[in-house]
Amino acid sequence: MNIKDVIICGAGPAGSSLAYFLSREGFDVLLLDKAKFPRAKPCAGAFQISLGDFFPFSLEDVAEDKISGFSFRKNRNSCDVLLDVPISYVVDRKKFDDFLLRKAIESGVEFIEECKVLKVEEGIVYSASNKFRGKIVVGAEGVSSVVRRFGRYRKFKNMIKTICADIPISFEKKFVFDFSYTEGGYAWIFPKGDKTNVGFGTLPGDFKDGEIILSKILEDYEFPEPLNVYKWTYPLFTSPELLVWRNTLLIGDAASLVNPASGGGIYNAVQSANLASKAINLCLREGKTLKIYQDLVKKHIYPMFYYSKIFNLILENVPSPILFLRLIKPFLAYLAKNLS
Ligand SMILES: Cc1cc2nc3c(=O)[nH]c(=O)nc-3n(C[C@H](O)[C@H](O)[C@H](O)COP(=O)(O)OP(=O)(O)OC[C@H]3O[C@@H](n4cnc5c(N)ncnc54)[C@H](O)[C@@H]3O)c2cc1C
Repeated sequence: MNIKDVIICGAGPAGSSLAYFLSREGFDVLLLDKAKFPRAKPCAGAFQISLGDFFPFSLEDVAEDKISGFSFRKNRNSCDVLLDVPISYVVDRKKFDDFLLRKAIESGVEFIEECKVLKVEEGIVYSASNKFRGKIVVGAEGVSSVVRRFGRYRKFKNMIKTICADIPISFEKKFVFDFSYTEGGYAWIFPKGDKTNVGFGTLPGDFKDGEIILSKILEDYEFPEPLNVYKWTYPLFTSPELLVWRNTLLIGDAASLVNPASGGGIYNAVQSANLASKAINLCLREGKTLKIYQDLVKKHIYPMFYYSKIFNLILENVPSPILFLRLIKPFLAYLAKNLS
């Protein structure tokens, strides 16, 4: 059996980016996904413009929208932060994920779609009808990660439940985060070109009557009937965890690399892919340990999660979150500009 340098399970933003980075470095990469592409993925689709810095090509053409402001709302109070520069792209995940996958394939990656990974053993990946051998196996299958079930990886904690819908009208070019509808979590309204994505997410204990709450949001904002409604559960970061076990590692949602305050995971998916490509390079070319990846995540990704947790804690405990946000508006504007 032909032994691949790296087998990547899952062709979301994490898996396709890693496949692309490694293939450009000259590695023999096999990318597997259970879906047929292009495939839909429930997502509001927003990420910092600086995500483009990881790639030598522009993401502008695949973006549906460019956003330069945001608004926090609770009941009748609001805090608007409007900037003079765009801070975020919004993408349609069906198009965006397919775009990244095509870049990976063009760079030489072997891709097999409709290939569901069922089991992973030491260097062997099993689908229903095949088995593949790789020097390194990467789990990038998001919340349903099979690689994560191998070895000593822990079970997901802190799952967030979401419901979202695409509405067939455009919305003003700012993100709305509305805290009026649930005690934990928030509702969002994100412009996406000629559509708008509306949804909300909370921890499971607080997630009751999802459809009723979604209907209430649509009614309050006077939105028309949605084109579709999706439900999805995925893991927020809780605390540092094992991300490397023997010759396997986890990236993106499969590694719980989702911001615990915003629920955003696209940027971290690509960033973790970038860090994993550096560790894999050192491992396969210089015989270094794969555990370097764990240290890189600790250094480059976790700090932002800690700051986000602190920010969340403050918001949950101040008597008036909107008033507090208004007070720190210049700081929010500074952060938005510098993190975009
Ligand atoms: C409603 C909602 C809104 C969101 N909004 C935002 C947002 O605005 N901004 C943001 O940054 N993040 C957002 N997120 C989070 C974001 O969608 C994820 O963090 C991101 O998709 C993670 O990418 P990934 O590549 O790790 O995993 P995924 O995108 O989940 O990709 C995993 C891939 O693995 C494949 N797969 C799964 N199991 C198997 C298997 N057994 N064998 C083979 N293939 C398999 C799947 O088909 C899929 O293609 C949102 C999530 C939800 C649910």
